[in-house]
Amino acid sequence: MSTINQSGWRPQMNAVEGEAAATFTGNRALMLEEALIFEIGSLDTTGVDFADAPKAASRLGGLERHRNIGLPGLSEPEAVRHYTRLSRQNYGIDLGFFPLGSCTMKHNPRLNERMARLPGFADIHPLQPIDTVQGALEVIDQLAHWLVTLTGMKAVAMSPKAGAHGELCGILAIKAALEARGEDRRVVLVPESAHGTNPATAAFAGFAVEDIPATPDGRVDVAALTARLGPDVAAVMITNPNTCGLFERDLKTISDAVHEAGGYVYCDGANFNAIVGKVRPGDLGVDAMHINLHKTFSTPHGGGGPGSGPVVLSEALAPFAPLPFVEQQDGKFVLIEEETAGEHHAGTFGRMVSFHGQMGMFTRALTYILSHGADGLKQVAEDSVLNANYVLRSLEDVLDAPFANSGPCMHEAIFSDHGLAEGFSTLDIAKGLIDEGFHPMTVYFPLVVHGAMLVEPTETESKAALDQFIGAFRSVAQRAKAGDAALKTAPHFAPRRRLDETLAARKPVLVWKEPAQAQAAE
Ligand SMILES: *Cc1c(COP(=O)(O)O)cnc(C)c1O
Repeated sequence: MSTINQSGWRPQMNAVEGEAAATFTGNRALMLEEALIFEIGSLDTTGVDFADAPKAASRLGGLERHRNIGLPGLSEPEAVRHYTRLSRQNYGIDLGFFPLGSCTMKHNPRLNERMARLPGFADIHPLQPIDTVQGALEVIDQLAHWLVTLTGMKAVAMSPKAGAHGELCGILAIKAALEARGEDRRVVLVPESAHGTNPATAAFAGFAVEDIPATPDGRVDVAALTARLGPDVAAVMITNPNTCGLFERDLKTISDAVHEAGGYVYCDGANFNAIVGKVRPGDLGVDAMHINLHKTFSTPHGGGGPGSGPVVLSEALAPFAPLPFVEQQDGKFVLIEEETAGEHHAGTFGRMVSFHGQMGMFTRALTYILSHGADGLKQVAEDSVLNANYVLRSLEDVLDAPFANSGPCMHEAIFSDHGLAEGFSTLDIAKGLIDEGFHPMTVYFPLVVHGAMLVEPTETESKAALDQFIGAFRSVAQRAKAGDAALKTAPHFAPRRRLDETLAARKPVLVWKEPAQAQAAE
């Protein structure tokens, strides 16, 4: 239990028996403790000096505030330091390697930021007359063209604001297509190794979700899938490359079978980074696929966004795409905002967001695409796959790599907790990596691998950076195999130790209470 003294500091926050005595402040060298703003601020402090307002008759009709608003006050330097200290407690891609699997945490090029901040892109409003935003609409149109070309698809819906939102868009397009056909298909098939958002999306859109097992080599069991197809199956949702980091080689066979049975193929394209420029999902029979601009196309990612998840659509689903979209008419860009009977978009399922999508992300993604060019994007895929295989082959002698014999991995390397000392787990390795200065890899996902550790290096890491990570990972893994007790209490050098993550997720404390109030509530 931390004690908060009068100045707001929390001495001995990190005191652990047997370790060096805690500091008076709770700080560890330049790693500074920071209390909540409510704990350090006081109601009667302010950073500005206002003269008393001249007396005037109130026009608020009795609605004026009578009590103090309760906002914590700080002087300007205190406010600056508070937020700067908080920012230093954040680990980000600009600080170090971020090997979070299934997330493609790649470097965000600064050129993208420069372009996104140009006033013609940054300082516009979605309700501005379209004559005044032709350049911005052209960016959306050009990006759409690239996405359609790179995927070999017919159309793209630009407005979805994240991967999961894109999934919903694709599934709603499928639902609209089925309705137009007058068919009531209720089931969506999802492989066991799917990202959690896939079954969640299908259920959210009102479908019943059924699992399809994986084969021992980590791919979809094609026989089980085709055996389940029938007149009640609306769609199959497949991640390719899949969450085990493997390419689904049978996707074309699967698509053909699904189409034959009257269903649609949704491909989760969040892992597109591994195949961009190499494989066109349209050639594999995909009907809808979301693309995470915040993964493959390097737009910032994390802390909840802002994401952007455009959805490419096949010829069969294009008529049902959501509004709005950009179109070129007589040399001018226009926004199609409403359905018009008899037009090619008359089947649209409606609108997913208030406006047109994440303009800032579109500008960044297009900048990234143009600065790489088609050949550069192909190299992105190749280098991301090379880096992942380098990690896989460098660690498979110390860690169990369950699919090491299933051929080269794609852009992610996966390991299991098999072979760790009794009582040691994937969590201990993750915590040990924090002491080594790395954000841990994705842990316990995908569920099909016991104690999974999913490492995605991306193409933006140098060999030197990978070697350092591999060295740290080897060292921590060897400690977990040797049963080094100190690893059970890692991290030792972080501001916080092992938090109760389950409690934090299930019962998050989102509202600060004054200590007296909090005690009364206990
Ligand atoms: C990241 C990811 C998603 C979800 O994307 P969000 O933008 O986080 O909603 C879906 N599927 C896979 C495989 C992913 O890696």
